[in-house]
Amino acid sequence: MPASRKPLFLLAPSVSHVQEGIAAGSVKHDRHMLSNDQVLAIFRQSGALLEGHFLLASGAHSPAYLEKFLVLQYPEHVVTLCTDIADRFRNDGVDVVLGPTTGGVLLAYEVAKQLGVRGIFAERAEGGGRELRRGFTLAPENRVLVVDDILTSGGSVRETLDVVARAGSQLVGVGILADRSGGKVGFGTKLEALLTLDVVQYQPDVCPLCAKQVPLTKRGTTKHPAVEK
Ligand SMILES: [Zn+2]
Repeated sequence: MPASRKPLFLLAPSVSHVQEGIAAGSVKHDRHMLSNDQVLAIFRQSGALLEGHFLLASGAHSPAYLEKFLVLQYPEHVVTLCTDIADRFRNDGVDVVLGPTTGGVLLAYEVAKQLGVRGIFAERAEGGGRELRRGFTLAPENRVLVVDDILTSGGSVRETLDVVARAGSQLVGVGILADRSGGKVGFGTKLEALLTLDVVQYQPDVCPLCAKQVPLTKRGTTKHPAVEK
């Protein structure tokens, strides 16, 4: 559906793509799993759901932004959410949890704690992409779960998957707090997102908020030429 035909600020949670096509009785319907609405309520309560005119890391503009650190500042929310991610991969033989900086550090730690395995993180490499530092290692026999906070275009997850591939390790899947692509981004592996939202995005040249001269806000830390000072 073209973005222009969507409501400006569509936040009705879409049916979670991870729940489709799952046979009854599987772990996906475990009573301990959080519903999309329960996770959305945690984001709302934390003030993490922002409305306005935002420049995303991808360069697209959006009327909504998820400031995940407003959720992650509450350890009890981190425990709740990461326990749910851990439960979705508990039978997959994970022995390392890997996340991209910065949010992925917190998530990898807590998901790893829940699974009783190592939790490590991948940092930005000077020449682009990501790499393991600080003595962290991955071996071919490792079974790796990649975790990240917000999935928009999937860039940071792909960079982290590259780290796993370069190590020759086995990828078990990807666990995400919130998929704001509405389920459009995939990685060819098991993907579990606790919250799936279909949030409209615009390319800058057709952005109706730009047309209305609504001031553009840059969130996060990923730099973009349009807002470089
Ligand atoms: Zn705009």
